[in-house]
Amino acid sequence: MKIAVPKEIKNHEYRVALTPTGVRELVDRGHRVIVQASAGEGSGFPDADYQAAGATIEADVEKVWDQAELIVKVKEPQSDEVARLHERQTLFTYLHLAAEEKLTKGLMDSGATCIAYETITDNEGGLPLLAPMSRVAGRMAVQAGAHSLEKAQGGAGVLLPGVPGVAPGRVTVIGGGVVGENAGRMALGLGAEVTVLDRSLARLEVLDHRYQGRMRTVYSTADALDEAVRESDLIIGAVLVAGAAAPKLITRKMLADMRPGSVLVDVAIDQGGCFETSKATTHAEPTYVIDGVVHYCVANMPGAVARTSTQALTNATMPFVAALADKGWQKALADDAHFRAGLNVHAGQVTHPAVASAFALEG
Ligand code: NAD
Repeated sequence: MKIAVPKEIKNHEYRVALTPTGVRELVDRGHRVIVQASAGEGSGFPDADYQAAGATIEADVEKVWDQAELIVKVKEPQSDEVARLHERQTLFTYLHLAAEEKLTKGLMDSGATCIAYETITDNEGGLPLLAPMSRVAGRMAVQAGAHSLEKAQGGAGVLLPGVPGVAPGRVTVIGGGVVGENAGRMALGLGAEVTVLDRSLARLEVLDHRYQGRMRTVYSTADALDEAVRESDLIIGAVLVAGAAAPKLITRKMLADMRPGSVLVDVAIDQGGCFETSKATTHAEPTYVIDGVVHYCVANMPGAVARTSTQALTNATMPFVAALADKGWQKALADDAHFRAGLNVHAGQVTHPAVASAFALEG
């Protein structure tokens, strides 16, 4: 099969859909991979590495898209890209259509088969192609929080691990899912005192067992949040309520109880944020201060570590890309109900119920 890997054109997107290692896997299976020139540059993968892996490098964007049967991307197609899609093609990428009516209509009009990473499911009830980016964001949240605690960033001047004779900093993570566990794990690794709040006892039990009690687990209540605000140097917001905006768990009034220079990192900002004072920021200007509390609210955290993110994404997408290439989309989806949950648009119709109900379309 002819597989295209275009260069991402969304503003500040440095990831690429496949690493050279991923390309080699496909070429070894007898497929032809066309990589747009400099597509991997932002992730530190030069064209020469793709060539060595067996890809054809193509400078002309039109040729990259035109000849492909399968197009593998990272971000949802931008309007120029939607215009290039046609009915004989399969698109495999993050789509997040429920909030994007214009894009949904554009994909329907293209006639292409569009499979979204984020709606593919797994046996554990998770979302295996969202999880790698949640892992990256969770780990980065602690890195960003530790940096924000420095004096020059407006922080309290606290070193999270402490030093001999000085107690470590206190980190509270609200939401102990994929982001929360990875944040907690990273904070433990730094030597901080870590508490994770969640409303799922089952989840708290997993964390308690997995980290042998080193991660304090607390059921998330108003009292627990009040205590977190009073005691923490760094609070990381990592909640998710499927299909809904994030609940506002820390209000502006509660900021008065935080020590000056303490830090809020709101990873849930892509769902509206779980702190009342959160507003989305960018990597160029990631933080701002309200009532003496430093806020870090970058909506696409994995973009800052594009190389790691690209590698993590390729690891997760690779089996699905291989199945599409080897079997064609009909058989690949027919063979795997979890993969089938990724189908969002086909032959002019929305095929995913959540997307269809978001726009009251026929599903
Ligand atoms: P997840 O479903 O694995 O975990 C969410 C957890 O929140 C669950 O364990 C759930 O029980 C818990 N929760 C829900 N309501 C709660 C409440 N009121 N109090 C305490 N806990 C509560 O989700 P995830 O993959 O960890 O993602 C978390 C958030 O991070 C999502 O909003 C996701 O979109 C976001 N995210 C952001 C970025 C970024 O770059 N900013 C990157 C990846 C993920």
